Amino acid sequence: MKIKVNENYRLLEKNYLFSEVARRVARYREAHPEAKIIHLGIGDVTLPLPKVVTRAMAAAVEEMASRETFRGYAPEAGYDFLLKAIQRHYRRFGVELALGEIFTCDGAKSDVANLTELFGENLVCIPDPVYPVYLDSNLMLGREVAFLPATRENEYLPGPAELEDAVGHALEGVIIYLCSPNNPTGAVYDHAQLEEWVRFARATGSLIIFDSAYEAFVTGDFPHSIFEVEGAKACAIEVASLSKSAGFTGTRCSWTVVPEELEAGGMHLNEMWLRRQTTKFNGVPYVVQRGAEAALSPEGEAECAALVDYYRENAELMGSVFRDCGIAFTGGAQSPYLWVTCPRGMGSWEFFDWLLEDVNVVGTPGAGFGAYGEGHLRLTSFGSHEATAEACERLRRFL
Ligand code: PLP
Repeated sequence: MKIKVNENYRLLEKNYLFSEVARRVARYREAHPEAKIIHLGIGDVTLPLPKVVTRAMAAAVEEMASRETFRGYAPEAGYDFLLKAIQRHYRRFGVELALGEIFTCDGAKSDVANLTELFGENLVCIPDPVYPVYLDSNLMLGREVAFLPATRENEYLPGPAELEDAVGHALEGVIIYLCSPNNPTGAVYDHAQLEEWVRFARATGSLIIFDSAYEAFVTGDFPHSIFEVEGAKACAIEVASLSKSAGFTGTRCSWTVVPEELEAGGMHLNEMWLRRQTTKFNGVPYVVQRGAEAALSPEGEAECAALVDYYRENAELMGSVFRDCGIAFTGGAQSPYLWVTCPRGMGSWEFFDWLLEDVNVVGTPGAGFGAYGEGHLRLTSFGSHEATAEACERLRRFL
């Protein structure tokens, strides 16, 4: 063909992390068919949807079967019943949102990646390690990226000082991605740290894109939303999801909050996002929106909390093993992820291979989440209690 392609795609690393993990596991399994391999690497939930959700979805399916209650295209930002449920959800954290600031979607991944379309050429600042979609979606548009090292020294929670160090000059108009609780490190920003980011963003005319996909795992006095910080509505967009809190990874529903007061270059970001969504997205299916509404109801929140508690128990068990064995890790307490420092100076893949071959446990090599992920391994608490307990017993024996 003689068409021109988006050359920026050449900048993308081959997405080989999970395929390489699968390849090594398959090779090992072939050589050791009797091995009982336990997967603690997966980032997907395993418990089924809350009953209140499936009941609501079943009722919605019935509505679709009758001429009187059938629904066609949904409003692009979401039905009022769901927007109001999300609004009530935020009131639990003391955050007041206008319905027009909430946009539902089929997943945080889509929104995180699509938000890039609203912006021109800005420096984009991305924590390292982090969810790879931030980097790849910006590379696809040829954006200039600076990395924010998340290291043991800063307890995996880089602040504005690290950004200035990384760039080496005064900054303004930066797009800053923050993920808290973080995937993969499990680290969570506290109020003071988020206040510092908001102060920095406002002082430099920058925008924070805050990914709260793991908000349901937050406990104690830590922020669930960037909008708990005063002034954040002047400098932040938040992306949230029901994937990990309500088991919606296969059902697909999320939302993005774009405050009405966000303005840049004489344009309102809320209006731009509405325009973008109404042009390119036709709304979350009605049946799914009814399920999402149910997940955010008081009964749904209790059922979702039970799901999260189940995973949290796994994380606690895993954490106790590493603590007892004197192996450093972060996360687990407020996140489904444990970010383990590879023992004996091993590299990510070296530790991965050792775990696979000697312990028959599969993790995810930290190097796959960014250069600063080297020397770490991510374990997840999304397995069953039984499998996690068995893996922990083996880890205790071998570590
Ligand atoms: N953001 C982070 C930090 C994630 O880890 C994930 C999925 O693993 C997502 C967003 C995507 O979530 P969703 O399933 O809503 O697209």
